[in-house]
Amino acid sequence: MKNLVQEKWAKRPLIISGPCSAETEEQLVATAQRLANTGKIDVLRAGIWKPRTKPGLFEGIGAKGLPWMQQAKKLTGLPTTVEVATGKQVEDALTFDVDILWIGARTTVNPFSVQEVADALRGVDIPVLIKNPINPDLELWTGAVERVARAGVKQIGLIHRGFSSYGNTEYRNAPMWHLAIEMKRRNPEMILINDPSHICGRRDILLETAQKAIDLDFDGLMIESHIDPDNAWSDAKQQVTPERLAEMLDAIAWRKEDVASEAYHAALEKLRQQINHLDDEMMQILGQRMKIADQIGKYKKENNITVLQTNRWNEILERAFAKGEKLGLGKDFITKYLDAVHMESINHQTKVMNG
Ligand code: PEP
Ligand code: MN
Repeated sequence: MKNLVQEKWAKRPLIISGPCSAETEEQLVATAQRLANTGKIDVLRAGIWKPRTKPGLFEGIGAKGLPWMQQAKKLTGLPTTVEVATGKQVEDALTFDVDILWIGARTTVNPFSVQEVADALRGVDIPVLIKNPINPDLELWTGAVERVARAGVKQIGLIHRGFSSYGNTEYRNAPMWHLAIEMKRRNPEMILINDPSHICGRRDILLETAQKAIDLDFDGLMIESHIDPDNAWSDAKQQVTPERLAEMLDAIAWRKEDVASEAYHAALEKLRQQINHLDDEMMQILGQRMKIADQIGKYKKENNITVLQTNRWNEILERAFAKGEKLGLGKDFITKYLDAVHMESINHQTKVMNG
């Protein structure tokens, strides 16, 4: 099994699936078998201990589900992974030969818990996946990675499951893709898996979310699957049957990071040079813009006028929206871009006025 786990860990895309929660032995084994029958799954997942937002929801079957995982592995040949949140859970999972552990979003937020899990992992040779914390805080995610790494765990992977924010509507957890991308940039040697199930919280946008992750060069997916999704004891709305999952995986356009074609590389190089050239020009222009802001600052200082003039700012935004629309630039982008430019202008002017 150790070699198989290594092989799976290196496979791209790495596909992890299984129910949100192990409920009964029959449910777990049947889900595992139907997933294995698709031939598209690499690792079987199931929640054994479930950290729930509110009490009274199904809190997991507990350690008695671990022999079911073993049985599912025996019948399907699939390596297994479960979520661990305490030292005792790590011990129990290891006793029952779980192959990969994962740390859940509600645990990653808590350095005490992460440290406890890390301490239990000292001297243990097992791959560990670390989900992003509930809140959009890369330092917290990084801290969890460091604690586990310091315990001597060599194989660490990242799972992006989105971030909670008050009033989330479209997504259960907003993906904030840029945070996952930044985490990958900081940890290029780690695999990065996307969990569209917990991002979406519903079935109808799972596929487009998974596709987006693949377009962004994620190394794999963790998607929840259940033999009877509507009657699942947890996360019923976001689970899909093994067969539906297989259809989704077939529908995804799998992208490669690179190809060996020379023509492709030559064409790409040309386009990248054009982008570099345009970026250089934009820098020059922004530099000029700031020089003009400095001059305005000087006039404002001489006439004792405030730096920020709201009317003028609204006028700039309106002009930009109108122009941007014709150029195919989104309102959201223009607002963010001009906000940044405006802040820099204000900083320049403040310096001039107080300099
Ligand atoms: C889960 O994977 O079932 C789970 C509880 O996920 P998260 O920690 O991302 O909420
Ligand atoms: Mn779940």
